[in-house]
Amino acid sequence: MKLGIVGLPNVGKSTLFNAITKAGAESANYPFCTIEPNVGMVSVPDERLEQLAQIYPSKKVVPTAIEFYDIAGLVKGASTGEGLGNKFLSHIREVEAIVHVVRCFEDDDIVHVNGDIDPISDIEIINLELMLADIEVLHKRLKSAQKGLKGDKSLASEIKLIEKALEALESEKSVRTLDLSADEKKMLKSLNLLSAKPIIYVANVSEDDLVNEEDNKFVKQVKELAIKEDAEVVTVSAQIEQEIAELPDEEKKEFLADMGLENSGLDKLIKASYKLLGLMSFLTAGPMEARAWTIKIGTPAPEAAAKIHTDIQRGFIKAEVISFDDLMQSGTMVAAKEKGLVRIEGKEYIMKDGDVVLFRFNV
Ligand code: GDP
Repeated sequence: MKLGIVGLPNVGKSTLFNAITKAGAESANYPFCTIEPNVGMVSVPDERLEQLAQIYPSKKVVPTAIEFYDIAGLVKGASTGEGLGNKFLSHIREVEAIVHVVRCFEDDDIVHVNGDIDPISDIEIINLELMLADIEVLHKRLKSAQKGLKGDKSLASEIKLIEKALEALESEKSVRTLDLSADEKKMLKSLNLLSAKPIIYVANVSEDDLVNEEDNKFVKQVKELAIKEDAEVVTVSAQIEQEIAELPDEEKKEFLADMGLENSGLDKLIKASYKLLGLMSFLTAGPMEARAWTIKIGTPAPEAAAKIHTDIQRGFIKAEVISFDDLMQSGTMVAAKEKGLVRIEGKEYIMKDGDVVLFRFNV
């Protein structure tokens, strides 16, 4: 899963991104990916893994990870090629969701690009660039669809959808806010519009506002706006995140507790991303490792198996599945099997969060 971090200059993007790379998931665990300089990977915290590793026992735990892309440099005028505009917009096209950092902290030493701190105006500036880029894409697509309409009547519904999207965009509404049928949603996906991507606003506040975030009037404004846009809001202090990221694991919890916090901002961001993108994790375990894998809610077993290796999907025979809770209650896999709690599932099986799975497949 890829998320792109965007925001105006000086709002705390690099600080947050640094925290992400420092907290970074060990890339050695992900042999198929090369980490680019603007990609940070963070582990998705999952307490079930430690327990699973004890039961098996497994030598180590490997959490699943989310990738964050630092898409710095999006400024006013990007859609018309200002700055490195178009390049940044094309980076956004590649991510599944947008993490938009807005400045909600006051600090006279750090200038705000547009003068005053005003998160709503910051959000509008960037959203406008995304919308302008979408308008351009849609006009082009509309032209070619209209040309093809004579020979291909199926284009009529696409044209209708494009017109609907353009109408929203021209009244400065993101495509995300449109009420669409399942078919329209499918069609929309293929257009890959920027303002249709799910979005999380990260309200970057000062340390003092972390505990009582509602006291910060800027955070309040962002939350009000997010409700109208179907977006999520996560409050973090990028600076504190950077400090936390530098601490050894065992000191992190203590540091948070001292501040009166339960979770780090990064953990909150990961949770929000899971929710927003409709994601869940399934688990595998063996003597080497207990491991979590990210999939979309509603994924059938063979597709989930492909996360591990496409060969498993190709040769899929069946999945041996037990829920994490059933396994914990049984104490061991052997006991769980004796109780008949390990199910044999076929190709149609829809995975559930916390399923502990062993895939059987033909090589
Ligand atoms: P970017 O341009 O959006 O990448 O912003 P940076 O991450 O470079 O941050 C701009 C400045 O704001 C830097 O001097 C940071 O140290 C500072 N900064 C970032 N987050 C915070 C914060 O939560 N509180 C305060 N007071 N300063 C911050």
